[in-house]
Amino acid sequence: MDNVDKATRSRVMARVHSKNAVPELIVRRGLFDRKFRYRLHGALPGKPDLVFRKYRAVIFVHGCFWHGHDCPQFRLPASNRDYWVQKIERNRVADQKSRAALKALGWRVYVVWECAIRGKGSNAEAALNSAAKWLRSVSVN
Ligand SMILES: [Zn+2]
Repeated sequence: MDNVDKATRSRVMARVHSKNAVPELIVRRGLFDRKFRYRLHGALPGKPDLVFRKYRAVIFVHGCFWHGHDCPQFRLPASNRDYWVQKIERNRVADQKSRAALKALGWRVYVVWECAIRGKGSNAEAALNSAAKWLRSVSVN
């Protein structure tokens, strides 16, 4: 199943993981500053990054690489493309399943993409405002 040599894989993973950690922290802090309270990595389908019980809502912060975002920040490594294509496709399928399962349980689902938070042309404040607006878009008792 795995035809990528270990060194290449850990190099790519290290790069991608460190990239992913930061956007999630920015989203957490930004929404906390906007007075939202949440739990992290809830025991819900797909383990959403942030869970807002009061709003019956969850937010995923997705790295563009791992989740195959159709955006300029998504670039396949030059080597072992088949491996990465398959891996990312599995992630996308898993994302769709999680989303469907969450919706079936009555949760609202929102995705903040890494490219909206950091990178060329991104505007993290605007992305956070959009997420906040979305959270508040349902009246909650
Ligand atoms: Zn993206």
